Amino acid sequence: MEEWQQLLVDGINRSSQLPPEWRSSKEGVDQGDVEKTFPIRINGYYSSLISDPDGPIGRQVIPDPEEVLDFESPVDPLGEDTDSPVSAIVHRYPDRVLFLVTNQCPIYCRYCTRKRMIGTPEGVVTRREVEEGVEYIRDHPEVRDVVLSGGDPLMLKDDYLEFILSELRRIPHLEIIRIGSRVPSSLPQRVTPELCSMLKKYHPLFMNLHFNHPDEITPQASLACNMLADAGIPLGCQTVLMKGVNDDPDILKKLFQKLLTIRVKPYYLYQADLTRGANHFRTPVAVGLEIMKKLQGHTSGMAIPHFVIDAPGGGGKIPILPQEYLISMEEGDVVLRNYEGNVFTYPDIILPETVREEGGLASPEPEVGPLGNRNGHAGK
Ligand SMILES: *Cc1c(COP(=O)(O)O)cnc(C)c1O
Ligand code: SF4
Repeated sequence: MEEWQQLLVDGINRSSQLPPEWRSSKEGVDQGDVEKTFPIRINGYYSSLISDPDGPIGRQVIPDPEEVLDFESPVDPLGEDTDSPVSAIVHRYPDRVLFLVTNQCPIYCRYCTRKRMIGTPEGVVTRREVEEGVEYIRDHPEVRDVVLSGGDPLMLKDDYLEFILSELRRIPHLEIIRIGSRVPSSLPQRVTPELCSMLKKYHPLFMNLHFNHPDEITPQASLACNMLADAGIPLGCQTVLMKGVNDDPDILKKLFQKLLTIRVKPYYLYQADLTRGANHFRTPVAVGLEIMKKLQGHTSGMAIPHFVIDAPGGGGKIPILPQEYLISMEEGDVVLRNYEGNVFTYPDIILPETVREEGGLASPEPEVGPLGNRNGHAGK
């Protein structure tokens, strides 16, 4: 057995294995009741990072009775099951699909949007379903990008993962392959030299990792990321904004800056989804916007992810920016506010009349901007 497999076996996989100081109950519900609906997995590496069960690492994986005291919220908040043409594929956007290749993960995050399937017997993804997914992509020439997700694709054994990657690479219209993985942050021992030399045969391959707190960036996690980066895989990070975990501008700034030092580019900061059993993690949207304001201009643009809300019911990811930056856009003037609160005007370019008409825009008269008529000659 490899080290990472041993860490899974030796971890906490049942509520009865939780140390006494990690136990809790509320309104007559305890963690044993939680585990009947939402499985538990805290592998031996990740549990070693927990000093306080109510701290930022503990909260992400220690079951909370709150999870089963929520009966209202949707089980499938993003309507993924509705956009699923075959069971392993979610096809929502025109040119790319999500391919759910497993329901296993290195840890079972309590805030997971896919709690409905993660680690459950019903959620298991069969080889037949994976083959169907590959066929679906092969039959859909518009799909030029696939995101392998789940669950965590790196939980699959090397040869099975390689089977999936090689099947996908035989599809001529598929340009890029992405893997979403929690492994480098929660079970970095899984990133072995063998895995890296296998992965690098399937470029262009991208990976989006999932770090939520600077304490997850340990020497082991750094090593795993460096090995993946050395295999030529561009690394991004998708972070979920969560109450009591990382809802603080200083913590997130530190996380995003540290990620760059291990060659991981912050990609998305997610507003927490409205998921049954995970609502106790939600923060007001204003908290996220305030955090974005404290990042923009104050640190490297490279360290700043897009802040997105995955729209309930299947609207997809929608980026949101603090409103302060764009004050107005009238009569050729774009009035802007910078990160220090100072106001600047950018004289906009006004399209020539012909282009405006072709573009279906109103205004028959050419407009005169503050610097005179900048409509130019435009073929007239
Ligand atoms: C997030 C997501 C993708 C990938 O979106 P990008 O913005 O391209 O990273 C694709 N399909 C589904 C269903 C998704 O939720
Ligand atoms: S690793 Fe990802 S898919 Fe798995 S439980 Fe955590 S958030 Fe959900």
